[in-house]
Amino acid sequence: MNIQQNFSLQSYNTFGLDIKAKYFATFETETELNQILEKCANIPKLILGGGSNILFTQNFEGIILYNQIKGIKIEDDFDDSVIVNVGAGENWADFVAYAVKNGYCGIENLALIPGTVGASVIQNIGAYGVEVKDFVKNVYTNGKKSVYNNIDCKFGYRDSVFKQENPKQSVILSVTFHFSKKPHLKLDYGDIRKILQESNIENPTTKDVFDAICHIRSSKLPNPAEIGNAGSFFKNPEINRSHFEFLKQNFPQMPFYPVENPEKVKVPAGWLIEKAGWKGKKIENIGVHEKQALVLVNYGGGKGIDILNLANQIEKSIQEMFDISLEKEVNIL
Ligand SMILES: Cc1cc2nc3c(=O)[nH]c(=O)nc-3n(C[C@H](O)[C@H](O)[C@H](O)COP(=O)(O)OP(=O)(O)OC[C@H]3O[C@@H](n4cnc5c(N)ncnc54)[C@H](O)[C@@H]3O)c2cc1C
Repeated sequence: MNIQQNFSLQSYNTFGLDIKAKYFATFETETELNQILEKCANIPKLILGGGSNILFTQNFEGIILYNQIKGIKIEDDFDDSVIVNVGAGENWADFVAYAVKNGYCGIENLALIPGTVGASVIQNIGAYGVEVKDFVKNVYTNGKKSVYNNIDCKFGYRDSVFKQENPKQSVILSVTFHFSKKPHLKLDYGDIRKILQESNIENPTTKDVFDAICHIRSSKLPNPAEIGNAGSFFKNPEINRSHFEFLKQNFPQMPFYPVENPEKVKVPAGWLIEKAGWKGKKIENIGVHEKQALVLVNYGGGKGIDILNLANQIEKSIQEMFDISLEKEVNIL
């Protein structure tokens, strides 16, 4: 067991923030994890995957447990579907590419999302009309209740039982997915159809959709390797339909999406932030991305606390302008 001290996390968080962890240890198996947990019983702990959904606002005065549990195992292979168990430390984007290559359908719309397979279920990652929850069979943890089936996970919009229970520090070890081998393409989101048309693709395959998503994401979202960020900083808020109708009088262009509850609608947080004048705003080395108002960025040398202050200012202005409370999607530490 190798526990390092005073460890820089700069290349372990996609904001690229230069903060330090008092202790840092990597685990590749549950046994290694247990050994570290036993040794560090009374120290604050944080499980770290790809660091793509975390904003560190200060040094971490405890131990970072860096998850490197790997492995992809086919549990059942039927004519029309497959059940696959994946180590929580596997890279999500690589796993999507693997699934597409092997003809496992459904998660192609979740291509290129950074981070690990383990963390994908924590906030029920989603993009272009697809959420990971639709493919999760079981989640295995080291906690008291070590197997969660899909219902136990209590998945919601960027939410799950693991996000709610995070302070209890149960560690996700692996996830079992159920995929169809028959394509069920979802093309009605973002520019998917437009990109396919531009490439003269009339009858797209799963791989065509995967390529289209990769193309859209690479052209629209800032690459954390170039500009520090954690993707969408806020969730899209759900508001009462009556509130929406009232706002429409002043903002007739305000976009919305229906949700399950007919009394409510979802409004894109990026639109609200842009309307409030924040898009492209730069404050020294941090700011709001110039193409994506939902993405807060570190241009280099920025501080987490300044990004948090900026996020709080944005929330306040959205509250004042629209009477809407934004909720942060990124985990603040
Ligand atoms: C450019 C960019 C684009 C993005 N686009 C999207 C998108 O389209 N849709 C979307 O939903 N998200 C998106 N995200 C957010 C992010 O990629 C996801 O939330 C991802 O699942 C986070 O994975 P991670 O391994 O980096 O988690 P981390 O940031 O390492 O951790 C996130 C939280 O999960 C906990 N955690 C991590 N692993 C475990 C584990 N094994 N067991 C227990 N707890 C754990 C951590 O303690 C922390 O609280 C984007 C981020 C970036 C930077």
